[in-house]
Amino acid sequence: MFSRRMEGVKESATIKMAALARALRKEGKKVLDFSLGEPDFSTPPHICEAAKRAMDAGFTHYVPSAGIPELREEIAIKIREENRVDVSAENVIVTPGAKQAIFAAMMSILNEGDEVIMLEPAWVSFEAAIRMAGGKPIWLLRRDKPVNYDMMSSVVSEKTRMIVINSPNNPVGYVMEERELREIAEFASDHNVLVMSDEIYEKIIYEKKHVSIASLDAMSERTIIINGFSKTYAMTGWRVGYAVAPVEIVNTMLKIQQHSVTCASSISQYAALEALRSSQECVYEMVSEFKRRRDLIVRRLRDIGFACEMPDGAFYVFAGISTLSTSSTSSTSSSTSSSSASSSASSSTSSSTSSSASSPNSQNEQKDDVAFAEMLLRDTHIVVTPGSAFGNAGRNYVRFSYAASIEEISEGMARIEKLISSH
Ligand code: PMP
Repeated sequence: MFSRRMEGVKESATIKMAALARALRKEGKKVLDFSLGEPDFSTPPHICEAAKRAMDAGFTHYVPSAGIPELREEIAIKIREENRVDVSAENVIVTPGAKQAIFAAMMSILNEGDEVIMLEPAWVSFEAAIRMAGGKPIWLLRRDKPVNYDMMSSVVSEKTRMIVINSPNNPVGYVMEERELREIAEFASDHNVLVMSDEIYEKIIYEKKHVSIASLDAMSERTIIINGFSKTYAMTGWRVGYAVAPVEIVNTMLKIQQHSVTCASSISQYAALEALRSSQECVYEMVSEFKRRRDLIVRRLRDIGFACEMPDGAFYVFAGISTLSTSSTSSTSSSTSSSSASSSASSSTSSSTSSSASSPNSQNEQKDDVAFAEMLLRDTHIVVTPGSAFGNAGRNYVRFSYAASIEEISEGMARIEKLISSH
């Protein structure tokens, strides 16, 4: 009854958790949500004001499909000045959210059966976009160690069309250094593959510096930069994202946009323009608050016994649960989380499935991250995302989003500490 390409696309892993959380809230329980993929801050007032002005000025009609010219121009300036990529407005397409840019890019590039190298764990919608476009994800482990040329060569084939990178990363929080980006660039050039570089968290970065792979050598010819306003300016509901790519790719994506969504919201585009043109103080304030929260949540999670790297960017901690002393979530079978939303297990390459051997927790027993997340919700009323939602390499991990207040983080950690110490 349904199309074959939708068969491989799974529902979100968090749906069951969200339903459980809703039920608990209905019972009057104080549920703390650490699964949010969006800043908990409100959109800064000057951006909202710009949208109101746009409405009052009558900018309430269709606008050009590729975006209002002023915004495309402003984005091109930003990409030239901040990311050091030589582009002009015609390289920019404004979309209803970065997600739509990813989807349109996959639909523009992939033919049935084309392969896309995905670094695992990965944010869930890349895989869905690849599958909806008829492509096939090929997984390569990239959790706490950089990828290199040889690793990518081990999974390449004549069907490989693209590699997807996402730095700063959701869900792990790593930031790719220039050395790693150079390996990817060299590999992409040698094998004539495109790079999709999702840079949506570029401003939510702490000690490190963001480098766009498109700025290296001739990489702008083969890179599709994905970015947007959702995270940097707390504008998730406005639905404005963009892609920056070679003109032929932009023009193909444009056809998809013209015949599907027409354009991103006119009012939101004027708000986005204001966000780029005005003071960036609001961004610095949000990032310094995120840093305070990161420092607190990582310290507390480590105290409790989770194994976690210090994230360099985004607002997530990918916390290993194998080191914890809970017994209720232990498993000896490697298929325990096959019921989770991850569909990557079936398509994992050997380099991915062998990942647990190099994991810092490999000495410890396997834990079922889905069962662990359900236990947290049931016993502490805390919502987290099971790591396996992000691919097989996420088993034994849960993702905490720290888009939550310091008070919520403190209380949440106290609840978890109590639960773990009672086991
Ligand atoms: N890319 C990544 C890596 C994300 O985490 C998200 C949001 N969760 C998006 C893209 C989507 O952003 P948008 O709201 O602009 O569609």
